Amino acid sequence: MLILVLNAGSSSLKFNLMDMDREETLAEGIAERIGLSEGFIRWTIQGEKGRIELDMNGHKKALSAIMEQLHQTVLVGDREVGAVGHRVVHGANSFVDPELITPAVLTEIEAMTFYAPLHIPPSLSGIRTAQELFPGVPQVAVFDTAFHHTMPDYAYTYGLPYELSQRLGLRRFGFHGTSHQYVAEQTAVLLDRPFDQLKIVTCHLGNGSSITAVQNGKCVDTSMGLTPLEGVIMGTRCGNLDPGVITTLLEQENMDGKALANLLNKKCGLLGISGVSSDCREVEEAMGNKNKRAKLALETLWYGVLKYVGGYAAAMNGVDAVTFTGGIGENSNALRTWVCSRLTYLGARLDAAVNDKRSKVARFISTPDSAVALAVIPTNEELMIARGTLHAVEK
Ligand code: ADP
Repeated sequence: MLILVLNAGSSSLKFNLMDMDREETLAEGIAERIGLSEGFIRWTIQGEKGRIELDMNGHKKALSAIMEQLHQTVLVGDREVGAVGHRVVHGANSFVDPELITPAVLTEIEAMTFYAPLHIPPSLSGIRTAQELFPGVPQVAVFDTAFHHTMPDYAYTYGLPYELSQRLGLRRFGFHGTSHQYVAEQTAVLLDRPFDQLKIVTCHLGNGSSITAVQNGKCVDTSMGLTPLEGVIMGTRCGNLDPGVITTLLEQENMDGKALANLLNKKCGLLGISGVSSDCREVEEAMGNKNKRAKLALETLWYGVLKYVGGYAAAMNGVDAVTFTGGIGENSNALRTWVCSRLTYLGARLDAAVNDKRSKVARFISTPDSAVALAVIPTNEELMIARGTLHAVEK
């Protein structure tokens, strides 16, 4: 079966067409600047790169143009899209498995807008567009929060009045679930050991970053919370803060909720501390040029990652593997060196030569005698969404 995976953002639409008989990507790409001027779509179809400039007033125009490209190339003869899988950022308590989208499910996803006001509306638009363009083709929603639903209550509870938390649904949910699940499973494959007998810390570090403890195949804790702001500092997000900082900002800077949300989501993290960029590569470059605030920003991130790894090793009473993924996790030797060289108390030994070598394949970066396996595994969220979609359709 061919599955089209869609990830709709407010001004973008990512797509990936997968042949699930071989779990192979036939086409992938992104439409950018939807609803803005100078829109464009770029893709790789069967290894060939392409790009068109196109102003798109909405997701429908974008998806129609993408389908036009696919119909001219891979979707020929009797090859058709058998199902569409949608990435949906928040499933809260309602969704813990991929869901075949019915009118009732769509209504419930709409109710998630409370939790993710920036992400859910574009997801809904992506789903409605696909329903319109693929009448009769099953549509499935795969949730970023789903993998984390196995966390014990003491790991997801905030220290707020219990009734208030219950009434508003305030608890930690976690994100990047498909990525954490994928790299944790692949860590077991790399180790050639059963997934359900391992203790793994997965570090998904990109523009958004989260760290997860996976014990016996299940998530037992994760660093992001009710929203993707909690945890380590990110490109532009603040990560953990004393809640007193928020009340101070409200009072001292006369901010309202909207201004505060904008600050915490868009002006903090690597960008806010360094003043250089939200892009880790650029901040590393600035640090190389002796920029002190760039160094401070990076060390704040590295130290945050180190503390989560240690915390989760404690939570699981040991750890078999620490795995890095995401743009920073896969590419920043500097981050991995800083963090891994401080895990000797766990018996972890980094192989510096292997760590420094550029590679795009899943690999160990620990020495053979390391008591904890250290691994780098490129993530594949699209494959997990396609697998979840196939599973929901076959059910
Ligand atoms: P997203 O969370 O949006 O999917 P990515 O996982 O692609 O983002 O991660 C993007 C981040 O990865 C950026 O901060 C980028 O600078 C960083 N990155 C990519 N390559 C490198 C590199 N060689 N060294 C350090 N950081 C890198």
